[in-house]
Amino acid sequence: MTKARRSTRQRETILRVLRSTKSHPTADWIYDQTRKYIPNISLGTVYRNLNVLREMGEIMELNYGPELSRYDGNPVNHYHFFCQSCGRVFDLELPVQTGLEEMVERESGHQVRGHRLEFYGICHDCLAQEKEAGQKRASRELKDWEEPTSGNPLNSAFDSRPNARH
Ligand SMILES: [Zn+2]
Ligand SMILES: [Zn+2]
Repeated sequence: MTKARRSTRQRETILRVLRSTKSHPTADWIYDQTRKYIPNISLGTVYRNLNVLREMGEIMELNYGPELSRYDGNPVNHYHFFCQSCGRVFDLELPVQTGLEEMVERESGHQVRGHRLEFYGICHDCLAQEKEAGQKRASRELKDWEEPTSGNPLNSAFDSRPNARH
């Protein structure tokens, strides 16, 4: 295979891997999946191809902090929700607010070419888990309250207290 054909194949495989998921994966995840098809590919090659694909407008890179980039196989603007508890990134089925761009242009005199909008908080799964954990904790506390250990440690401490006066 020629060098050019090999790099096209690498790029297409990476794109196919990324478009096969809605999880907005990290480069490490994409690397692991791509190795199933191209076992000798390196992480550096995956990064290089992700950059090329981004510059070509085929994918989006979402940045969540200096070391955490996530990739999206859908390059058309859409909004995301980032869970601060489990780190998952969800697509939001919201229409893109082009009115916002007009507002910014009117307000600032700048020419707006696009915008990004990110929401963050706790996802529905993490909320449900927290609620469940809270309920378990509450029922455990209730049980402790209803079933005291036999004998009252306070009374026995009182009974055995040595008499200080003679
Ligand atoms: Zn979560
Ligand atoms: Zn997305």
